[in-house]
Amino acid sequence: METVDCVVIGAGVVGLAVARALALAGREVIILEAAEGIGTGTSSRNSEVIHAGIYYPKGSLMARACVEGRRLLYDYCRQHGVPHRNCGKLIVATNGQESELLQSIKGRAEANGVEGMQLLSGNAATQLEPNLRCTAALLSPATGIVDSHSYMLALQGDAENHGAMLAVHSPVTAGRVVDGGVELTVGGTEPMTLRCRLVINSAGLYAPNVAARIAGMPSEKIPTAYYAKGNYFTLTGRSPFTRLIYPVPVPGGLGVHITVDLGGQAKFGPDVEWITPESADAIDYRVDPHRSDKFYDAVRKYWPALKDGALQPGYAGIRPKIVPPGAPAQDFTITGPADHGVPGLIHLFGIESPGLTASLALAEHVRALAGA
Ligand SMILES: Cc1cc2nc3c(=O)[nH]c(=O)nc-3n(C[C@H](O)[C@H](O)[C@H](O)COP(=O)(O)OP(=O)(O)OC[C@H]3O[C@@H](n4cnc5c(N)ncnc54)[C@H](O)[C@@H]3O)c2cc1C
Repeated sequence: METVDCVVIGAGVVGLAVARALALAGREVIILEAAEGIGTGTSSRNSEVIHAGIYYPKGSLMARACVEGRRLLYDYCRQHGVPHRNCGKLIVATNGQESELLQSIKGRAEANGVEGMQLLSGNAATQLEPNLRCTAALLSPATGIVDSHSYMLALQGDAENHGAMLAVHSPVTAGRVVDGGVELTVGGTEPMTLRCRLVINSAGLYAPNVAARIAGMPSEKIPTAYYAKGNYFTLTGRSPFTRLIYPVPVPGGLGVHITVDLGGQAKFGPDVEWITPESADAIDYRVDPHRSDKFYDAVRKYWPALKDGALQPGYAGIRPKIVPPGAPAQDFTITGPADHGVPGLIHLFGIESPGLTASLALAEHVRALAGA
């Protein structure tokens, strides 16, 4: 049986960032990925927004990792030539009641350390974005967009340059806690058993499932997985906006917003659709065209010129929730030996948005937790 220092389970954006951080710290790292390549899960099914850190509860890991991760991510993109754009975002109010809420959103953002938030009148917002209709707006200059695949390739390259190895088609199927670490059973094209001093479970949607397969991991310390699908519709033609446009958040979500990709195409969403697939393989990523009705109504409040038939079903991603529908929002939940009692084992649960933005900060958090 082979003995390795560190294994990272999952080559999504967070697993890759963690693998890079451990490799840079001089550790021997193997990344085990079940799929045929990197970033085929949630990491390629999101909005690719570099979030500023506006809405998260003050002091939460989400708030801290988003603000810190955002700064690190901009620096990283500049240094590694990763395509990105600091395009900014407008949160738009369409009536007096919503206008009042903007002030409290600004307050929360500032408490989280978000720079440059600016309240604008409806007219001032329309001068920035002539196609917009709103009574007031909040400008977030720190928000941006990133080419997430280029970013993941850069992370992989960095990790490999520092000695990390990526094994694709390598699903972790079981494990057990042993003296001095964790033993993992790996299926796929080259089945093997690995004895690892440190295991980082960064399996995204399947992190609770992977944790449950490790004999010796206390089951009461494993959260239940819930899946909230987010559907996107794309707009035919060029985006009417250069900035990202968000309504004032509604309870349970950010509301139907417009984001733009680096190619200038606009997409709308994601909405929230709770799903209960029979198994991991049974996740249906197709977008039901009938869901567009709600999108038209929501978007026309701030962009009345949206034409009938302009929205096409796009793609969908699944939020890896660890709380059921209606429960208070979850925080990123990263647990180590002090939480569950198993030495050499770290789990990343509930890494939903803003996990892409926060990835470099989360990687630092895990590296420190691992004592690397
Ligand atoms: C709809 C939506 C929109 C989002 N928008 C944004 C946004 O605009 N900005 C932002 O910052 N964040 C956003 N996010 C969040 C962000 O996409 C995620 O936080 C991030 O991609 C999570 O990365 P990950 O590496 O944890 O998980 P994943 O990308 O899911 O990677 C997990 C990997 O583990 C592998 N795996 C699973 N089981 C096993 C196993 N047993 N053995 C080996 N490998 C395994 C999977 O194949 C997968 O490759 C969004 C999320 C969603 C759902």
